Amino acid sequence: MKNLKIPLQNVDEKTIYLECASDFRDKTALNYIDKVTLSAERYKECVPRDIAYLPVFPIKEGDNEKIIKVYSEKFAKNGSIGKKYYEAIMANAEGRCPICGSGKLKNLDHFLPKSKYPLLCVTPANLIPVCRDCNFDKKDEFNTDYYSIPFNPYFDIMEDTWLECDISFFADRTYEISFINGFERAKDESMWHKYEKHLKVYDLNATFCARAEEAIENSRGYNRKLLLENGSEDVIKSLVELKIEFEKVDKNSWRSALYRELLRKATNYCNWLNS
Ligand SMILES: [Zn+2]
Repeated sequence: MKNLKIPLQNVDEKTIYLECASDFRDKTALNYIDKVTLSAERYKECVPRDIAYLPVFPIKEGDNEKIIKVYSEKFAKNGSIGKKYYEAIMANAEGRCPICGSGKLKNLDHFLPKSKYPLLCVTPANLIPVCRDCNFDKKDEFNTDYYSIPFNPYFDIMEDTWLECDISFFADRTYEISFINGFERAKDESMWHKYEKHLKVYDLNATFCARAEEAIENSRGYNRKLLLENGSEDVIKSLVELKIEFEKVDKNSWRSALYRELLRKATNYCNWLNS
């Protein structure tokens, strides 16, 4: 996960909501402006550890949809009055998905789902730019317990090296790959659970496997040549250099995990290259 600074800190949430909600002929959404402002303030105090303490204000039946439309019609939609805010939040991520670290940005994801927290639907700190593969907004499952929700790129820091890759090379030139939670469970059961959740909620194993397979295929020719011409020591040297480079950027990226594993299995990898 790549950490991001909270976007649009120079504009308050009230201004954004007011501007977008005022653009409707139906003024219902404007009735909630004070609750939106208060929710946004409390959000920044409660996320990520104390979501259970975040007040959930009563909303009149039927108004939920009208509030959510402030996001879908006046904020996310092309040409809408709030699109400039949407784009500023996307630009804040500098082109790459903060969750997987490499996917191309596709849309904004509500960290606290808009179905349950409609008043936070246009709060910038609740909006995370993600790629097509990392969108979890549509999943209904949600929990307020810190250890049962994924990491938040604005508020959480991943201090441990937890992502690991596992590869088995076979004699018929095939291989099997998976990405796993390598955090030591006995060290901190709750934290282990949180890493597990992060991996599952975003289905990162599938995303990372697809990207790692591509990287393995693309580098096979080059590394095979290196092996045949200069021997396994040069292959290992090249793997070490890549691992160091990738870990400098993010020790929990799929690339860092992949190169850690290729080094652990260097002998098998070289045999595979040679097969
Ligand atoms: Zn992603």
